[in-house]
Amino acid sequence: MSRKNLIAGNWKMNNTVAEAVVLAQEISNRIERDWLELVDVAVCPPYVDLKPVKSVFEFDRVDIAVGAQNVYWEPKGAFTGEISIAMIDNIGCTYCIVGHSERRNLFGETNEDVNLKARALVEADITPIICVGESLSVRDAGTYLDFVTAQVRAAYAGMDEADAAKTVIAYEPVWAIGTGRTATPEQAEEVCAAIRATASELFGAEVAEGLRVLYGGSMNEGNAALLLGEADIDGGLIGGAALKADSFIQIVKEAC
Ligand code: PEP
Repeated sequence: MSRKNLIAGNWKMNNTVAEAVVLAQEISNRIERDWLELVDVAVCPPYVDLKPVKSVFEFDRVDIAVGAQNVYWEPKGAFTGEISIAMIDNIGCTYCIVGHSERRNLFGETNEDVNLKARALVEADITPIICVGESLSVRDAGTYLDFVTAQVRAAYAGMDEADAAKTVIAYEPVWAIGTGRTATPEQAEEVCAAIRATASELFGAEVAEGLRVLYGGSMNEGNAALLLGEADIDGGLIGGAALKADSFIQIVKEAC
């Protein structure tokens, strides 16, 4: 089965509304419409920028999706500071990142939290981009395949084939995020293939073949082509390079 690449920009905690609109306009103006036949593109700005960025893409009638960077699984209530799935759905988000290593490491998000968020998103027909990845100490210990596949199993707990088919996994080695130290294509492929094999064990070959597995970690316009050339890498989750229109647009082009 041929999978369409997905390039998703994670803007993290960057860009005021005014800055976000300028960046969204530049992306919208410069991404050629026929590229979007070959690659799916999404940007994930901070919550407050979601609606303005979505409006830019709607105004330009460009098929670039908008996603949130996090969400809470409860439908509503006394959860100060949290944002619900209905809220991001209402402003047109079709993706949501969950379990980013910054959320796991800085904000204490657990595998159980990731699972609850991913399941609730799937139920609402919003695609979770489920982030997994090992730290440098786990990589150096040589146990990274066990570590990452355990994260994948935990994220999928309680899901069936149909649920899993609505997810995206992003392999993001923590040692490569924001460090400029990218995994080699071979390193990234080894883990992405193991993720797909795990999905096959859990949900069967058909779901696994259709599952998009992204690589994230210092992907840029210089290294994207080689990473995206690997058999089990179906796109990228892009941090720093997604904040620069030139870089992001070039990565999208490489993914066509
Ligand atoms: C990320 O945070 O998801 C990411 C991949 O960041 P960067 O590209 O900056 O390493």
